[in-house]
Amino acid sequence: MNKKLKLISKHLTDIIFPPQCISCNAIISEQGGLCSECFSHLTFISSPVCERCGRPLRDGREQWKICSYCNNHRLKASKYRFSLSYDEHSKKLILPLKHGDKTIGIPLLSMFMLKCGKDLLEEADGLIPVPLHRFRLIQRKYNQSNLLAKEISRISGIKFLADSLIRKKFTRSQGEFNGHDRKENVKGVFKVSHPEDVIGKRLVLIDDVITTGSTVDSCVDELMKTGAKEVSVLTLAAVL
Ligand SMILES: [Zn+2]
Ligand SMILES: [Zn+2]
Repeated sequence: MNKKLKLISKHLTDIIFPPQCISCNAIISEQGGLCSECFSHLTFISSPVCERCGRPLRDGREQWKICSYCNNHRLKASKYRFSLSYDEHSKKLILPLKHGDKTIGIPLLSMFMLKCGKDLLEEADGLIPVPLHRFRLIQRKYNQSNLLAKEISRISGIKFLADSLIRKKFTRSQGEFNGHDRKENVKGVFKVSHPEDVIGKRLVLIDDVITTGSTVDSCVDELMKTGAKEVSVLTLAAVL
């Protein structure tokens, strides 16, 4: 289609289906965007953040690179980065992505992740989405982590390793558990199906949201056990 025809077709689509804010459905100028009010309510995680856990350095350690927690604890992944604080506002972007079949915001949300995950992505050999079990995939039609990883791969050129990690057991939703039980629920449920994609590689695991971190950490365990050189975690949001 030539440029002029493309433009006319876009105008017609915008008249029939006016672009809506991906959070509140207000009419806006571009498809897949946010209105200024919804954008202003989002809490972006900005520098300075702890080099390891990615959380804001708030405890008087702004001049240091590592927070006091990471100074005393060993985390599973090398680094964690997330773009947004998971709160009532970012929830409106993430829940429709998970359960509402609303994927139009993927390009914008992936851009948020590209920006905050810059240092992880610069060193990465491959992107691995946190997998869903195939039964859950049939229920939801798609895996939101897959869509985010695929878009980040498209823009960055980093290899998208869609099926390298699989979920071998069907587990109940993590939302039904707390703390220790969440860890138990996902312990040993992931399996590397293509070791050649993992051994000796620096990988970035992609997910939509970190709550306690049990799911991503179980994935990190499996990838490291298989022989990954390094695994970092990049998500759209995290519970702070
Ligand atoms: Zn809005
Ligand atoms: Zn930290």
